[in-house]
Formats: sequence, structure tokens, C-alpha cells
Amino acid sequence: MRNRFATWAMFGALSAGCGLAQTPAAYTPPDAATQELAKGIFKQLIEINTTDSVGSVTAASKAMEQRFLEAGFPAGDVYVGGPNDRKENLVVRYRGTGAKPPVLFIGHLDVVEARREDWTTDPFQFVEKDGYFYGRGTQDMKNCDAILVTTFLRLHQEGFKPDRDLILALTADEEGGKSNGVDWLLKNRPELVKAAFAFNPDGGGVDLQNGRAVTADVDASEKLYADFQLITTSAGGHSSIPTPDNAIYHLADALERVAHYQFPFELNAITRAYFEKLSTIEHGQTAADIRAMLGTPPDAAAIARLSREAEWNSDIHTTCVATRLLAGHANNALPQMAQANVNCRILPGHSREEVRQDLIRVINNPKITVNYVADTGEISPTAPAGKALPPVALQAEVMQPLEKLVAVYWPGTPVVADMATGASDSKYTNAAGIPTYNWSAIELETNDVRAHGRDERLPEASFWKGVQFWPEFVRMIATE
Ligand SMILES: [Zn+2]
Repeated sequence: MRNRFATWAMFGALSAGCGLAQTPAAYTPPDAATQELAKGIFKQLIEINTTDSVGSVTAASKAMEQRFLEAGFPAGDVYVGGPNDRKENLVVRYRGTGAKPPVLFIGHLDVVEARREDWTTDPFQFVEKDGYFYGRGTQDMKNCDAILVTTFLRLHQEGFKPDRDLILALTADEEGGKSNGVDWLLKNRPELVKAAFAFNPDGGGVDLQNGRAVTADVDASEKLYADFQLITTSAGGHSSIPTPDNAIYHLADALERVAHYQFPFELNAITRAYFEKLSTIEHGQTAADIRAMLGTPPDAAAIARLSREAEWNSDIHTTCVATRLLAGHANNALPQMAQANVNCRILPGHSREEVRQDLIRVINNPKITVNYVADTGEISPTAPAGKALPPVALQAEVMQPLEKLVAVYWPGTPVVADMATGASDSKYTNAAGIPTYNWSAIELETNDVRAHGRDERLPEASFWKGVQFWPEFVRMIATE
């Protein structure tokens, strides 16, 4: 087990170290030419539909490929490939001196479905309105794809020579679909993406409350995703002569039990450090509850109160929730089958099979079968035994420059390592031994998170800050 104090103390000591020569004194918005470049790329990506249903990730990859080739990147360093003609990924290698091992930057190009009739604007048109950029992917995550492409192009144009190769991989099927690009690259072209560590801007960033930066979050741990199928059958028959053996009632009872079950309270190195930091930011009863939760033994009443906050509940527990239902075949017939999907987010250190066994125990009804549903949709009677990965170590060569630059862009805002309660493509890179930090440099009001939702939008000011942050950050990462 990782020693939480050692990890956090190391991080703190480093951040007090001497400054880096190239750290800028203050944030200044990009000049007109840079704005035009970045906005042009952003607009182009938003207007290429990359949904799983009708879109093409390949079209977006090829559009970016063209930009890199036109900028003078050697053809041999720009790769486009994937399992089929709609799901091709882009990998660009920016050559360094080779003094240090490469760093990888990953971003997914695909977006969640969006229907024109649900939106005020056309989700696949890049719209500038009232200081915002609107369109599907403006938050998740074509904003950061555009920023990373812009970063590589700018550094290249300036003649910047990194001391390590910089690799950019823009990929398919993070949001859905069966052709995850990061997974595919790691399995089919591992030499293209092999790196000492990676950044994934599909998470992490600066939380704003009424325009004030509260925390700069780096996700260094993720919960493990799992779907389970609860299924039961009964004899059926005419609904005018019901019997107690009813598939719908069996399933309803099982779901009721799942609903009322709380998985055990648990902290890891990252979530403990996160709450320790939070206890100094929060006030009153909440701060007291956090301290009581962190105590030995942890205070059960405090945990119960904190668990009412859905985000925190998910930080400290494995969660399972019913997300879909299917049952019966006619209004006037007894059901022969009832099934539900239960979606679980599993804390580090536990496996999907362990959680499946937990569900069986909680449901406690042999009539209910609990199957595992793989990402491909394949259903099996047991789940994988692999455990959710432990948190990524907070390496000095990552955290030190990050702290320095956050202090310039968001003065006084603490950098807080956090656990993502969702899962991102980092699960593939972490599993492949490439420690991955989810960090976007995107600032967003906590009540204006619209990823996957309608009228997705990004404040222009947030985009420009990201555009300026990343080249500075990459320089620090690649010249220290
Ligand atoms: Zn995303």
C-alpha cells in the first residue's frame, strides 16, 4: 500500500522548490494570429460530426493530419490508422533530442450524440455567442483536441526543440462504439505511443465558483467501470390469473435491495489527500465532517452526512445504480422475463467479479442471475478478476511544473490531486504502464458543466487560457 503521507509530503516539498527560469510572470491572452489558428482548428473539429451513429473520426483525423503535413511535420511522423474506415486515429510525433523518454498526450475525437431539436443552436455548427463557443464537443473534448493541435503547431513553428519526443494521439470511441482508439493503438501500434507518462485533458481542470478559481484538479486515479445484467424469468400465463412467481416483482425486489445497499466507505492515497485539502477550503459543519471522516476511526455519522453530496459519495464508495429496464411482452400477459442493467463504478483495489459477488449477496435471491456485460455488449456469467488500478504516483517532473504554472494562471489556487468517478481513456494507458494525468487547463463554472448535455458551450476566455497554458506547460515538461 502506498504511503499517503510520503506522497503528499514529497509533492508539497517540491512545490516549495526554486522557480523555473521560463515560467511567465502572468497570463496574457493569445495574439490575433494564434487566436485565428486555434479557433479555426476548433471550428473545423466541431463541424466534423464524429458521433458513433453517423459520424467519422477518420474525417477529423485526416483534417488534422493535413494541418501537420502542411506545417512541415515529416510524413513519417504523422500516422493515421484504425480498425475500420470510420474509426481511424491520428498519431503525431514531434521529435526531440531523445535525451529523455517520450511524453504522450491523448485526446478523444469522438463526441456524444446530439439532436438538433434538443438544442438552441445546431450542435454541429460552431457558434460564437455572448462570449461562448457553442457546439457538441466544446467541453468534451474538441476544445482540448484543438488546443493540443495548436500547441504542437505553434511549438514547431517557433522551432522549439524538446529534450524528449512529444506524441499526440487523437483517437476514436471514448464515448461509445466498439473501436476505442487508445486501446487499438496500444494493441496494434504500441511503438507509436510508448511513453514515460501521459496527459489526458479529458478531465481535471479549474473549478470556478462565480468567476473565482477554487481548485485546480488533476485526476490521478479513476474508478473502474462495469455493467451488470440482472435477469430473471417466470412461467408467464394469462394476467387474469396471477401467481406470486412474477419476474417483474422478483426484479423490482432485487433492484430495491441494490438501491438501499451502500458499499463500504474507503479512502485511498489520492482521495485522502483530496479531502485533507478540501477540509482547509470548506467551512463549518462540512469542514468538521471531513476532518471526522479522516480521523481514526472514521466517524460514521460524518460519513453519512458527507455521502448526501453525490460527488463525495462517489469518491468514498463503490457505487452501483440501475440504468435500464426491460420486462414483459404484453399488457395482458404475466411476464416471462425481466431484466435490468446495473452500472457500477468501482474503487481502486476491487475487481468487477468482487462487485458481482457483492450484488449476488445483496440481492440474495437465487431466481436473479447477475451477469457481466462487457464493453462490446457480450454477456458472461462471470466478470473479469482484474482489480481497478491503484492511483498514479504524483511524479515531481509532472507536479512541479504544473504547480508553478497554475500559480501564474490562477494565482492562489491549490492544485489538488483527485480521483475521477467516471472512467476515461487513461484506463488503457495506465494499464499499459504509462502513468496518466488527467488535466485540461480548462476553467469552468461548476454549475455550467454541459458535457454530454444540450447547448454544450465553452467560455471563450477559458479556451484562450488553455491555448496559452499548454505550450508553456509542454516547454517546461520537455526542457527541465
Ligand atoms: Zn470526454
